[in-house]
Amino acid sequence: MDFEARYDVVVVGGGIAGVAAALQAARSGKKTALLEKTVLLGGLATTGLIFIYLPLCDGNGRQVTFGICEELIRLSIEYGPGDIPDNWRNGENLEEVKRLRCVFSPAAFMLALDEVLEKAGVDIWLDTLVCGVEKDAGNNLTGIVVENKSGRGCVHGRRFIDASGDCEVARRAGASCLADDNFLSIWALQYQENAASLSPGVGMHVGGCTASGQPLAKPELLVRCGLDASSLNISSGISGRKVTDFILNGRKLLREHYRMAYENGAGNRKNLYALKLPAMAQFRKIYCIEGAYVLQTGQNQQRFEDSIGMVGDWRKAGPVWEIPYRTLYPKNGPGGLLAAGRCSAAAGDAWEITRVIPTAAMTGQAAGLAAAMSLDAGVDPAALDVEALRNELRALGFKLHLPEAGLAYS
Ligand SMILES: Cc1cc2nc3c(=O)[nH]c(=O)nc-3n(C[C@H](O)[C@H](O)[C@H](O)COP(=O)(O)OP(=O)(O)OC[C@H]3O[C@@H](n4cnc5c(N)ncnc54)[C@H](O)[C@@H]3O)c2cc1C
Repeated sequence: MDFEARYDVVVVGGGIAGVAAALQAARSGKKTALLEKTVLLGGLATTGLIFIYLPLCDGNGRQVTFGICEELIRLSIEYGPGDIPDNWRNGENLEEVKRLRCVFSPAAFMLALDEVLEKAGVDIWLDTLVCGVEKDAGNNLTGIVVENKSGRGCVHGRRFIDASGDCEVARRAGASCLADDNFLSIWALQYQENAASLSPGVGMHVGGCTASGQPLAKPELLVRCGLDASSLNISSGISGRKVTDFILNGRKLLREHYRMAYENGAGNRKNLYALKLPAMAQFRKIYCIEGAYVLQTGQNQQRFEDSIGMVGDWRKAGPVWEIPYRTLYPKNGPGGLLAAGRCSAAAGDAWEITRVIPTAAMTGQAAGLAAAMSLDAGVDPAALDVEALRNELRALGFKLHLPEAGLAYS
């Protein structure tokens, strides 16, 4: 790891948004670094033990999200179980309500993510904590301050993508950010003997084998979700204390779940127990940038002239959102910065749409391409020719407006 290296594009956060951004920037010919504080790629989707790749379709048989988002859904099951409904396998757009989504093993997905990034030539920095930024006198980002086993140093670049999930870069660079609240929940991998699945939509069945290749007799890995609707006041600001409390209280929920299960005879400590806990805080939303535009509640089925792609509503069939390019860069700088995934600008119910895996992949790819194109054009991402960006996205297989997917505006 070389603090003297100069990158074209520096991506902060190796979650799904950061992976997609780094992949696209590297494929666009840019020297790209991906900085990740853990030793695993995939972020919440993998390290956080989320295991459902939400739909790339509208729920009525129309695929609306394309590109790296589709590549990643296939990679999520390359080294593990899980299936994409048959009718979608060949890119067919049948009148079928079974959604284009899949359940994957987080560990299997991580193995595939390493491979695809290495193939693309992305310089991956694992175990590297971002803890500051450097800017020039004109309020343009010039570097990301990190700490890892090599010590403390600065990773210099010309364009930066904040895919940290909570605007680590944008906030440290002084950009205005928006916050939202969470409810307490925990998803964990659980051993449950003889279980077929958990509850509908939440269960995951992962087969396994012994070291000698014999199938395991019965064990299954299942994911358990506990919920507590209480507000955590994250919207008033995040802190080290709140993160710690969130995690400890989540684990308390899990302990209560097992204590109750043992008491009521649903299982015992040998056939029902926690196998793996999430290694990152499972906040749904913390901070996103205050973008040049902030996507709002109810703006589905609405045309945006600067749309860089579409996403469906994972909760119900029908609603489809066009995502404006302006949600990917901050309203008042700093220069050189783009945001992707959970960090892109959205409020209220719209954030429910932008915070999930397909949108993270889609906005990540768009941000990676915008970073590369803004370098070629010698302009800040905020001044990029959006039509040129949209043309490139179309060339990469994106559909940008509802009618292109056979859908109508409201
Ligand atoms: C309980 C729960 C259930 C969910 N269920 C689903 C679901 O079923 N399906 C679905 O599609 N989505 C689901 N989501 C949402 C989804 O998984 C995530 O929001 C999405 O994966 C976010 O991707 P991201 O890349 O934007 O951010 P993240 O996954 O948060 O990635 C950010 C990355 O940045 C790294 N990072 C952060 N700070 C630093 C730093 N200072 N230095 C270096 N690296 C840093 C992190 O380690 C992480 O790897 C769920 C979320 C939660 C909390």
